[in-house]
Amino acid sequence: MRETAAFCPHCLKDPARWPLAWYEWWAVLCPVHACYLVSYCPHCLGRFDPSESRSNAAGLCPKFAGGRYEGEPGPGGRRKKRGRCNQPLWEVPAEPVTDPQLRDIHGKLLAAHARGANDGRRRPSQWFDDFMAVYQLVSEYSTVRVFDSPDPVLQSRFGDKLSSTVVDDDTISWSKDRTGFLRPMRLTTLGGYGLDDPVSTAARIRTAGQILHSENPVATAGDLLDLRGYSGLFGGGRPNDWEASVELKPLAASPHLDDLLQLWLDKEAFARLRERRAGAHQQPDSPQGPSSPPAAS
Ligand SMILES: [Zn+2]
Ligand SMILES: [Zn+2]
Repeated sequence: MRETAAFCPHCLKDPARWPLAWYEWWAVLCPVHACYLVSYCPHCLGRFDPSESRSNAAGLCPKFAGGRYEGEPGPGGRRKKRGRCNQPLWEVPAEPVTDPQLRDIHGKLLAAHARGANDGRRRPSQWFDDFMAVYQLVSEYSTVRVFDSPDPVLQSRFGDKLSSTVVDDDTISWSKDRTGFLRPMRLTTLGGYGLDDPVSTAARIRTAGQILHSENPVATAGDLLDLRGYSGLFGGGRPNDWEASVELKPLAASPHLDDLLQLWLDKEAFARLRERRAGAHQQPDSPQGPSSPPAAS
């Protein structure tokens, strides 16, 4: 889940659709309209939040626009109240998705999500676990060296620069994350924070999917990624901070991905991963999982 949802502008046209999948971090495109989702309003830079949108006029941006509407005396000499942005969200430009591999992997994510929702399972499928393992290693512990998507919108996130946008006193600026894709930051007079960008997430999803579904995942990972500085995770003989603090997606990966996982893990770490995997296998539902029902006896 993510804090705010991203949306498809076309889907907000009357009659509006609000697919639940929009709350998932991996929801980056609309399969119906073949466009990328949008996570903030380009007019006020407000982050999209469907609960706020429902309480306001349907489909209009509910964010309060900064100082734009303050200060000017209105009719009768009175100052205007701070207004909502009210930009029609269905008019926000959405960029087309043209990458067939991305559409394919996103379709698999949607299908796994739908199956998981039907069964009430937290982990929708083994395929999903495998994907999550590769995604974590690609997005957090690799630098992407080659990104060969034919989709110009996706490619724009792999470039060296995207120009900044200024709206009132705020600026959207782009910087490379350690994976090598550009991510937007909103800079305000009070400070800055990163914005959710469905397109840069899509670029990472495509890379993970490309590795997972290639004939030879080890060779493909070697072609696409630079692992210097990242290989040897969990090295050094004792659990490091990473092991202690992060939910280890590789623990849930299929054994057929072991050769791939070994690109990131050193020998000793890999042995420990197998041990922990065997342990995790004996207790498939961890007792602290809030949504897992008690096992039928
Ligand atoms: Zn749509
Ligand atoms: Zn707005």
